[in-house]
Amino acid sequence: MTADILDALKNGATSATRPFLHLPDGTTFTYAATLARTGRFANVLTGLGIAKGDRVALQVEKCAEALILYLACLRIGAVFLPLNPAYTPNETLYFLNDAETSVFICEAARQAMMAGQDFPGRVMALAEFVALATNDADPRADPPHAPEDLAAILYTSGTTGRSKGVMLTRHNLSSNAAALVATWAVTQHDVVLHALPIFHTHGLFVATNTAIAAGAAMIFQPDFNPGAVLAALPRATVMMGVPTYYTRLLADPGLTQAACAHMRLFISGSAPLSAVTHFEWQARTGHAILERYGMTETSMLTSNPYLGERRAGTVGMPLPGVTVRVADPATGAALPQGKVGAIEVLGPNVFSAYWRAPEKSAAEFCSDGFFRTGDMGAFDADGYLRIVGRSKDLVITGGLNVYPAEVEAALDDLPGVAASAVIGVPHPDLGEAVVAIVTARPGVALDGEAARSALRGRLANYKLPKVILVEPDLPRKALGKVQKNVLRDQFRALFTTG
Ligand code: AMP
Repeated sequence: MTADILDALKNGATSATRPFLHLPDGTTFTYAATLARTGRFANVLTGLGIAKGDRVALQVEKCAEALILYLACLRIGAVFLPLNPAYTPNETLYFLNDAETSVFICEAARQAMMAGQDFPGRVMALAEFVALATNDADPRADPPHAPEDLAAILYTSGTTGRSKGVMLTRHNLSSNAAALVATWAVTQHDVVLHALPIFHTHGLFVATNTAIAAGAAMIFQPDFNPGAVLAALPRATVMMGVPTYYTRLLADPGLTQAACAHMRLFISGSAPLSAVTHFEWQARTGHAILERYGMTETSMLTSNPYLGERRAGTVGMPLPGVTVRVADPATGAALPQGKVGAIEVLGPNVFSAYWRAPEKSAAEFCSDGFFRTGDMGAFDADGYLRIVGRSKDLVITGGLNVYPAEVEAALDDLPGVAASAVIGVPHPDLGEAVVAIVTARPGVALDGEAARSALRGRLANYKLPKVILVEPDLPRKALGKVQKNVLRDQFRALFTTG
């Protein structure tokens, strides 16, 4: 059994000096100071009547207190519910009520907005909460916890319909952190550069829990700023980021081999890292970015190896203890290596159900317990998994399947293309037509028709986009994933008039 994240935090605090958080103002929280502060936060929560299993929601800009609150919830067994500060009041209210939240901690402005809203729980400004956290006596003993206890609910960043609340247990989190520590060889000597948001599994669990499980420190930055990241690299050893961080760093002349001399490992995930970016990064810095794959429901599933080839355009092999298979989406039968199918997963990392949505949960699990990720992919001959796209993003044109990732990779390879997204739009003859939306690199005037000609011969004709539209930007979600549903809506009538 792997160590619970709270127990790992306590273990780190047995040293009086081990650093945990290096903050932007130059101060450092040791593990011991962090643990003490979680005790004070836990006292406030208990004083508010919060008990084991109650939901505590938090919606604030990234700050150390947000992490301390998450860890305080682990101490008393409350269920942590982080919310993206970008949510509108209506969206926020939906999550709070759906999760039957007991206390909602937010910025003062949001607290004012909540006045008169239909929310029966308590609303508190973070500053008000922190001001109460002065009780140093820490009189409580933490209640016992079990691996199957609920630790957090994270709402999916769902692009269709309502987001679902993903229930994650303490063991889901701790088992995944242990697998990542082992896979990425993280130790207490590591310093993780943390520029990710902490309302999402990537920044909250992958980065933070892995650091805690290893007893490592984190340089905690309020957001992603290329200049600040470059300035911190000489003090860091590991960086975790989304692909956009890497492309934005590549655009900065300050990114050099010398700037990365102290770094041990760059990790990317949450969205596909193009092979072009992988190779550009390697040429510039001497480091091969390690790409891994995961999702809110399952935490991390696969990773490229730390030692051994990090294969561009793939997400590597299943993590220890995690079983990943590729199945025929129609029959459910396992597919042989090389064949594209639905990616399914089983392991201690996989959530058990969506919050109060038994029918949605049942629909996403196979009868033998494997979870359907909704991603499509194939294993190559060496066991590396390649993701070809979300199953709902698959384009079926004239009865033939086109996997967007393959066309996007060809587009990304064209000189002048910065990013691309391939979608299917209704077509009177073909059912769906392949359409590409691309953005240009700075200073390049891209021509869609010329790009189309350049792709001829590289892709089978049926995969060739019917049109390539050059746009200033692609619509993206918080962690850089392209919102293909938005593009599909925008270009729905390209070939039809009705
Ligand atoms: P989320 O639950 O917001 O973390 O989104 C999970 C989804 O992000 C997965 O189901 C994949 O579609 C996508 N994703 C995560 N990591 C990768 C990756 N390395 N390459 C391609 N897609 C990824």
